[in-house]
Amino acid sequence: MMREKIHEQFQKHFGGSGEFYASAGRINLIGEHTDYNGGFVFPGAIDKGMMAEIRLNGTDRVRVYSVDLEDSAEFGFREEDAPSASWARYVFGVCREIIKRCGDVLKGFDAAFAGDVPLGAGMSSSAALESTFAFALNDMLELSIDKFELARIGQSTEHNYCGVNCGIMDQFASIFGKAGSLIRLDCRSMEYKYFPFHPKGYRLVLLDSVVKHELASSAYNRRRASCETVVTAVKAAGHPSVEYLRDVDMAMLAEVKGKVSDEDYMRAEYVIEEIQRVLDVCDALERDDYETVGAKMYETHHGMSRLYEVSCPELDFLNDLARECGVTGSRVMGGGFGGCTINLVKDELYDSFISRAVRDFSAKFGHEPKVYPVVISDGARKLE
Ligand code: ADP
Ligand code: MG
Repeated sequence: MMREKIHEQFQKHFGGSGEFYASAGRINLIGEHTDYNGGFVFPGAIDKGMMAEIRLNGTDRVRVYSVDLEDSAEFGFREEDAPSASWARYVFGVCREIIKRCGDVLKGFDAAFAGDVPLGAGMSSSAALESTFAFALNDMLELSIDKFELARIGQSTEHNYCGVNCGIMDQFASIFGKAGSLIRLDCRSMEYKYFPFHPKGYRLVLLDSVVKHELASSAYNRRRASCETVVTAVKAAGHPSVEYLRDVDMAMLAEVKGKVSDEDYMRAEYVIEEIQRVLDVCDALERDDYETVGAKMYETHHGMSRLYEVSCPELDFLNDLARECGVTGSRVMGGGFGGCTINLVKDELYDSFISRAVRDFSAKFGHEPKVYPVVISDGARKLE
């Protein structure tokens, strides 16, 4: 359906037809606030993504039409050609970042694109957009850019053209995602490993609280500072090789109790436990043990709420409700202070859980949460 919709607009704006490419939004099953501590994240691509029809146009200009926003943009490849529409800067940024790495290799193209990743809901619609175009240009022009570099092109696009100082996880998941697999990424070494995710009898569903509390960025900076403070203290306590909280275990943390504030201690405790939880969940998945996966998700929520203190009443409410309904696993996904919970729900509980969550959440907070069922799916690819 999306494909027909895109093609109709492609024909209308450019005539004829092009090649189809797609990429995906992502979830992170577990591993929150671990990336900047040298730990692991555990994302996967989802069945909501971006799709584009693209064709070289024989010029040195890009003409691109956003089907969803009903807006077009045209630009060249020089830095001063940057378009003003924010959506178009993602496409322009990808072009510029390719040029920075590969030189004058791009050719003008026409493209129409659309997507079904909800914008700003925590599933990274922006990474889906970047990786669709990065993958497509690499493929069409045979640039031989490796997949990691394609992800970095998306990340640099956010940094340099969209003002978002993000990590690599979103673009990594969008490029590397595979149906039926989650990917454990070691944020220190950048090594990654696929793990099977076949939750037979369960569904994954995100409940979007549709709130974003404003303290997020200042609180985030304070959390990072706490982590650094503890690393410095542990180093000074006779562990000079420690570089990140990844290198610290609970016994080492206990050695600095009283030397760091109770708050910093709690923050570090959460991070150390969370890094271990990712490993535990990977082990559980290799045994198809989804009950353990779910239990770890609740532990993460508890840690984020009570130790790292990045939850909020709306998210805690959704988490409590999941527990009361007998949902297998539930936790806040993303940095916190709003956004979604991710829930692992048995098939037979799904309908009653969703209707109760919608009803009770609305009664308490005056608006409905949004409901996004997701299936782990393929990332960037060419469509036949
Ligand atoms: P997210 O968390 O979903 O990545 P961002 O704010 O990072 O949210 O990115 C959203 C931006 O990406 C939008 O404002 C828009 O510029 C662009 N974008 C995402 N999806 C689409 C789409 N379907 N069509 C056009 N632009 C899109
Ligand atoms: Mg984004």
